[in-house]
Amino acid sequence: MNTISVPGSAVTRRASREASRPCATGWERDKHSMMEPDAKIYVAGHQGLVGGAIWRRLQAAGFGNLVGRSLEELDLRDQAAVTAFFERERPDYVFLAAARVGGIRANNTFPAEFIYDNLMIEANLIHQAYRHQVKKLLFLGSSCIYPKLCPQPMKEEYLLDGKLEPTNEPYAVAKIAGIKMCQSYNRQYGANFISLMPTNLYGPGDNFDLLDSHVIPALIRKFHQAKVTGASEVPVWGTGTPRREFLYVDDLADACLFLMQHYDDGEIINVGVGQDLQILEMAEQVAAVTGFSGRIVLDPSYPDGTPQKLLDVSKINALGWQARTPFTEGLQKTYEWFCQSPWARQT
Ligand code: NDP
Repeated sequence: MNTISVPGSAVTRRASREASRPCATGWERDKHSMMEPDAKIYVAGHQGLVGGAIWRRLQAAGFGNLVGRSLEELDLRDQAAVTAFFERERPDYVFLAAARVGGIRANNTFPAEFIYDNLMIEANLIHQAYRHQVKKLLFLGSSCIYPKLCPQPMKEEYLLDGKLEPTNEPYAVAKIAGIKMCQSYNRQYGANFISLMPTNLYGPGDNFDLLDSHVIPALIRKFHQAKVTGASEVPVWGTGTPRREFLYVDDLADACLFLMQHYDDGEIINVGVGQDLQILEMAEQVAAVTGFSGRIVLDPSYPDGTPQKLLDVSKINALGWQARTPFTEGLQKTYEWFCQSPWARQT
């Protein structure tokens, strides 16, 4: 039966919606092609810990056509602004490292912002990447997408297998939505959007604000402060026995480039070291690197959290990638960066 389009009718609106899509069933591209040296690459969040490291890694690999915008220049929650940016810049590749990120306190205090900001950033960027036929997009998730009581080490297949850790559930739900968006655009439109799940990160460019930092930058700052002021003790929260995994951020950036060149599967992939260490052992190494020679005093009145968090990295290892930076070397480089940064002057 023929349908007649009446202006303003549901049929017309549906037809015009269809026409506004660049392609409904996929676009021409070679799934296994490497990024061309002159390709235009947009690193969203290029001034952050991860985005900064990706930017450095791309430059070192000879990619010279990089695009970045700060939050002040382009608020990625703003759909119209993101659309205009893609219209103007038309990037070939996108690294999605922009996100609202923070520790337990920030996640607990601002749950609405954590879910809203991350959903908006992901929805705007992934959708515009599709509309502008970006050849490939890499989305950064996080190991907090895995269930709270996940078997260790955490395999990719455990996603959505159980309840999430309540403190960062809004953030984790937004990250899972980002993964599912990438997979849905791959399935419906033939896009090539991949999702990485990194473990805990540290490195140059980290956030050393004691109110809102992760454990390694917080300890670096506390030990440094104690050394400068001559304090004899530094408290470390908890019993010191939980085990955690830490990846140097430049290793993550290397994995991002590697996967952008060699991985074309919508299934998520873990990026980590594959080894963990006890919090106390980690604190002792941080103390040694900063030159603090006093006592570490454990404070068991603080909760330990889950006893172990370790990613299973056999999938990325089997592709031929593994983390290279030894923990002490990564700590040394991070401490050198900290000493040159404004954070050290605030100590
Ligand atoms: P940072 O906070 O260091 O950087 C986040 C970046 O996002 C900043 O450059 C910031 O811009 C930008 N940004 C935030 N909101 C907006 C917005 N509304 N519009 C535009 N830009 C915005 O975070 P990380 O580098 O640590 O994290 C990056 C990704 O890596 C996240 O997806 C996170 O989940 C993931 N990840 C991080 C881990 C970690 O330990 N840090 C562990 C596992 C995953 P500006 O600088 O201008 O403010």
